[in-house]
Amino acid sequence: MRKVLTLALAVTAFATIGGTALASHSWNGYHWARTANPFTLKLGDNVTATWDSYLATTSADWTASSVLNTAIVSGSAKPRNCRPTSGRVEVCNATYGNTGWLGVAQIWASGSHITQGVVKVNDSYFDTAKYNTPAWRNLVMCQEVGHTLGLDHQDEDFDNANLGTCMDYTNDPSTNQHPNKHDYDQLETIYAHLDSTTTVGSSTGFLPDAVPSFSPADRVSRSTYRTDLGEGRTLVTYVIWAD
Ligand SMILES: [Zn+2]
Ligand SMILES: [Zn+2]
Repeated sequence: MRKVLTLALAVTAFATIGGTALASHSWNGYHWARTANPFTLKLGDNVTATWDSYLATTSADWTASSVLNTAIVSGSAKPRNCRPTSGRVEVCNATYGNTGWLGVAQIWASGSHITQGVVKVNDSYFDTAKYNTPAWRNLVMCQEVGHTLGLDHQDEDFDNANLGTCMDYTNDPSTNQHPNKHDYDQLETIYAHLDSTTTVGSSTGFLPDAVPSFSPADRVSRSTYRTDLGEGRTLVTYVIWAD
């Protein structure tokens, strides 16, 4: 009896902590469906040589999580449009123009299950003196791939002190180039349950029926765009703005 009671208390405590953390730092619980942990998510490499080492660092950073691994594989996309591939993430770079954004991550979800994702980093800014630094490249690559795992930002104030994670907006990326313990804890919370189906490596993805337009005028107020695709499907777009 005593054992049962202890277990019940432990479950209650965990649920409370989990709920609080989810509210602060996940994308409404969006996650890849899978039947076992750790699962391995493929990152399609559509980036040029300049970005390869940063993608490798990001992949290693997130693979340090106890619940998932990432594996860099040959890309299937044309970098310019970075079309998604079902069951995995495509990572692209190009000179996308003066769009206002340094990086964009998108996930397509069916209910709360992520079915595919893309990451785009914008060389129109990374080719400039301000952003052409290892610190900026690490922060943005780490953050955008982090979004495709189901993570939100820990903080969206560019001007406050760094939290020591790439999931934190900042004007000085020096100490925000990699995940921190809170990110790994959050991943453990998001992926604490198992599913009866899997979307990792599966063909359950779908192409967008609508793509949101976003404007640099939104920089102060918006970082997330949700597009309802019908039938319980959602496209979520995450933007990190250039200064
Ligand atoms: Zn699930
Ligand atoms: Zn972001």
